[in-house]
Amino acid sequence: MTSAQTPLAILQDTYGFDAFRGEQAAVIDAAMAGRDALVLMPTGAGKSVCYQIPMLARTGVGIVISPLIALMQDQVHALREQGVAADFLNSSLPAEEQRAVVDRLRSGRTQLLYIAPERLLQPRTLDELATLTIALIAIDEAHCVSQWGHDFRQDYLGLHVLTEHFPGVPRMALTATADARTREEIVTRLELNDPARFVASFDRPNIRYRVSPKLDPKRQLEHFLKGHEQEAGIVYCMSRKKVEDTARWLSESGHVALPYHAGLPADVRSEHQQRFLREDAVIMVATIAFGMGIDKPDVRFVVHLDLPKSMEAYYQETGRAGRDGMAAETLLLFGLQDVVRLRQMVDESESGEERKREERRKLDALLGWCEITTCRRRALLAYFGEQPQADCGNCDICLHPPETFDATVAAQKLLSCVFRTGQRFGAAHVIDVLRGSATDKIRQHHHEELSTFGIGDELDAKGWRSVLRQLLVQGYLEADASRFGALVLTPRAKPLLRGDEQLVLRRDAVAPKSAKASSSGKRSAGSVEHTISAAEQPLWEALRNCRRELADEAGVPPYVIFHDSTLLEMLQHRPESQAEMLALNGVGQTKLERFGDAFLEVLKGAQHEGAAP
Ligand code: ADP
Ligand code: ZN
Repeated sequence: MTSAQTPLAILQDTYGFDAFRGEQAAVIDAAMAGRDALVLMPTGAGKSVCYQIPMLARTGVGIVISPLIALMQDQVHALREQGVAADFLNSSLPAEEQRAVVDRLRSGRTQLLYIAPERLLQPRTLDELATLTIALIAIDEAHCVSQWGHDFRQDYLGLHVLTEHFPGVPRMALTATADARTREEIVTRLELNDPARFVASFDRPNIRYRVSPKLDPKRQLEHFLKGHEQEAGIVYCMSRKKVEDTARWLSESGHVALPYHAGLPADVRSEHQQRFLREDAVIMVATIAFGMGIDKPDVRFVVHLDLPKSMEAYYQETGRAGRDGMAAETLLLFGLQDVVRLRQMVDESESGEERKREERRKLDALLGWCEITTCRRRALLAYFGEQPQADCGNCDICLHPPETFDATVAAQKLLSCVFRTGQRFGAAHVIDVLRGSATDKIRQHHHEELSTFGIGDELDAKGWRSVLRQLLVQGYLEADASRFGALVLTPRAKPLLRGDEQLVLRRDAVAPKSAKASSSGKRSAGSVEHTISAAEQPLWEALRNCRRELADEAGVPPYVIFHDSTLLEMLQHRPESQAEMLALNGVGQTKLERFGDAFLEVLKGAQHEGAAP
């Protein structure tokens, strides 16, 4: 389109959105004024618009630096569907096509160029670009410059040369994950020039957070998935083996579930990723190797069957849900084993002492968050430095406040049992002694003679594991990594044992009996479909089919045609003309011309059916 349009006109015509959201307008103003900028926005807030629109509104080509080669193609396709002349350059592109891209650049036809950092930094690319007028340089995933972060990319460190090579061209660094230290690192390492800073709230109000003790993970997962039939989601597991097992089990139970981990051949991984992007309801069962930069907007749920490493990792991984702003749901399962194993991993890691202390602190923050009995979102945001004023009403705790109980006596029993058995045994044995079980190990060590033998019949083994887990998390006990997880008292245990301290713990809810029998087996509010009535279901399916056919024809994922939110608007407003269609969110000029009639046709068909007696 022409570069004479204002940013707002571009938003409306090219993107089909009515108004800017949050800080978008302010960010765009800064770029239009030629200023460098640092933009921190949570996933799904709409970062792309922040740099794409000034690129279209200013004279010259916009350069987008992204480390995510696998995604460039989809991003470029999506832009082309909107009528933007976009291209990408990376090592995956055959030489001949690279030449065509360069030709288009030279001719001045290209509006947006996506490029991998290593490619950009090649001297001949820098020379080539130096001959062009450049509207804006966007550096996406800018936290990759941080050597402390887990997404560090060596190539990103080289990007400071852009200052010299492109004097006067504004640069915008964007990321969804950056604490205060990383922010400063981005500004320094990229040599941004007095950047305007935009830090949006990290809240993702459409994401419902759920955390549960791991009681019967398969059943808990099955129960959760009942609320998400026909939806796309990610299930994270710690190990490759568990990924394989879980994917197999889900497939056998009738889901479309695919495994993804670093041990699979590259072509299998890429095929699974493509299916996840292109089909409507694939469950990706994955290690954390999956997900960086997946910008599929309609991921409706993210499940962690094992604990992530830190709050940061958790937030980033769950952040892949609900990028389109529609309801999404997460579930995190954590158990005693996770607590012990993750603590051991930190203790045994090769990192230096300072790093270990940091890792321990991060893990403890996450564990503490799992056990809290107050609004999860408030605590989550507080961890990232925000202070929300009210409870959210959209987390497990707000929805179902947990039961708590005075656990002082139970904790005393458990701690003294650890002490009496010599602080040499792990959880299973200590609980056997408490419950007075007749195991060989107990006989072998004469533990049936201890004063704590059999004093714990008020709780079953699960109940004791729950108390034990909470004592570990709160620091009354430690599991000694060098002695196979033997439980050891810490100095904190003393006042509790002496009776100087009261302890209140949460009572873990029981696992759902079976997925069918459960009372909340109905669709949860985490689902998009819950907003669709049974009567609307056939039309919804027809709209989705229409989208799928158009997507297959164009060789792009369905959401590139229209997002779920746009289909939902069609369902609600039932447009009957091109003009009415254009009024919907997500329908711009180009998409109207290309796809409008196909959807109007589907809607018209439904109207006739609806009118029949
Ligand atoms: P991010 O890169 O920050 O994760 P995206 O740029 O992918 O987010 O945008 C997230 C979603 O929000 C996309 O579906 C996008 O089309 C939509 N979006 C962005 N800006 C607006 C806006 N002003 N009005 C309506 N929807 C928007
Ligand atoms: Zn809440």
